[in-house]
Amino acid sequence: MSETGLCDLAVVGLGVMGGNLARNFASRGLRVAGYQRTVEHAHALAAAHPEAHLRIASTLEELVGMLERPRRLVLMVNAGPAVDSVLDQLDPLLEDGDIVVDGGNSLYTDTDRRVARAEARPWRFVGMGVSGGSEGALLGPSIMPGGDRYAWERLRPPLEAIAARSASGVCVTYCGRGSAGHFVKMVHNGIEYGDMQLIAEVTSLMREGMGWPWGQVADTFAEWNRGELESYLIEITADILRAPDPQNPGALLIDAILDRAGQKGTGKWTVVAAAEHGVPIPTIAAAVDARLLSAAKDLRTRAEAALRPARGVIQGVSSADLRDALYASKIASYTQGFALLQAASEARDYGTNLAEVARIWTGGCIIRAVFLERIRAAFAQASGDKSELLVLAPDFAADVARRLPGWRRVVAAAAAAGHPIPGLSASLAWFDTLTQSRGSASLIQAQRDYFGSHTYERVDAPGVFVHTEWPKSSQ
Ligand code: NDP
Repeated sequence: MSETGLCDLAVVGLGVMGGNLARNFASRGLRVAGYQRTVEHAHALAAAHPEAHLRIASTLEELVGMLERPRRLVLMVNAGPAVDSVLDQLDPLLEDGDIVVDGGNSLYTDTDRRVARAEARPWRFVGMGVSGGSEGALLGPSIMPGGDRYAWERLRPPLEAIAARSASGVCVTYCGRGSAGHFVKMVHNGIEYGDMQLIAEVTSLMREGMGWPWGQVADTFAEWNRGELESYLIEITADILRAPDPQNPGALLIDAILDRAGQKGTGKWTVVAAAEHGVPIPTIAAAVDARLLSAAKDLRTRAEAALRPARGVIQGVSSADLRDALYASKIASYTQGFALLQAASEARDYGTNLAEVARIWTGGCIIRAVFLERIRAAFAQASGDKSELLVLAPDFAADVARRLPGWRRVVAAAAAAGHPIPGLSASLAWFDTLTQSRGSASLIQAQRDYFGSHTYERVDAPGVFVHTEWPKSSQ
């Protein structure tokens, strides 16, 4: 409490994320007020963590009265109608300059709507992504705020106090105007889908295609985590693959887990947003599709029984090839994700700094990795605010060229032996399409003109659209 007896800020919604964020703020010396619709849960949280000195309000009105002005309230409620419901209740209680932050995983178009709503009101609104799961929320997440710049300056000290710290600095930055914070968080999650899919495919190739015992797979990931692939997701993969099954002595837990992946929607949102912004993101799209197909367990079981495709041993692939395929596919995936961020920043006037986004992802978030420091450096070197595609940055271009033979060996061998690798192969197909200056779309243009008079351009007269009365064999 301050001398006035008032708190520095409030957290609304003290669930998994909100409770830990409130405790994180408190651990940095901030005086925190809390509110949860189910008030007894809020009191239970405060009682379980007396060191945080959380002041619990029974109503939003009481909460607002507990805060220093201009007030700062961080909502950590479920994305969707819950955010609008809380905003509706807060709206008559707030005054000039008060700041409301939506820290949940809101869809960016919902945030656009709420930004517009706040512009007509005295209070200010910030859409903010938070990544790092419950542990990150408590110990230091990566934080992606966007929207009202004045509000960001007022939020900056408490957010910098609780954010993760990496060798590149404190993992919070202003992501841009409007809904930029939630757009950046959405793309973070899309990239996370891609990373998880690529890792899962490589483990499956090692285990099912090459017959490695799980211990060898885990050891290989642990070794990779000491090198260029060092990252949170690689680290936890090694841990997961060694975990014993508590219900089956001698067995590993991974073998007892049903192969049906869940998803809450941010990956799908990324794919939809990419299509709407005209940016191909096939690695991330393959990851979303793979989760959908994984969920169709019964269908897959029937299809395997009906079609019985031959599935053999993978030949001619080394551990180094697998590492190169994984790393090169990651370069493809991150290139796609950052291209989407750039396109959205231009189309939606966000003003997002890509180097800064890469920097705040080096710590605290689920995709944190040493790899992101390379990405930060590549974008920081790019001149002007129009960055070149990541894969074309000199450092990455040379790197991909070096890894290409191993990448091809893995994709070809997996396809030949019948092992599905949608993420690895989509990434390679993206790379091969990107690097083919004359592609197969000539025929598509011809077909469109043939059946729909859609016209086409000739190679010797680009920009001039012509139609041909195509000779028809059936007439
Ligand atoms: P929880 O389910 O643990 O908590 C949800 C909170 O929202 C509860 O306090 C709940 O209160 C409140 N709430 C739900 N509906 C309403 C409503 N209509 N009015 C008022 N309050 C409501 O979820 P999380 O903490 O996991 O997630 C919160 C947000 O953070 C979500 O947007 C989520 O996507 C995002 N997020 C979650 C991460 C995670 O790892 N869990 C990581 C990053 C972001 P009550 O108990 O009274 O229902």
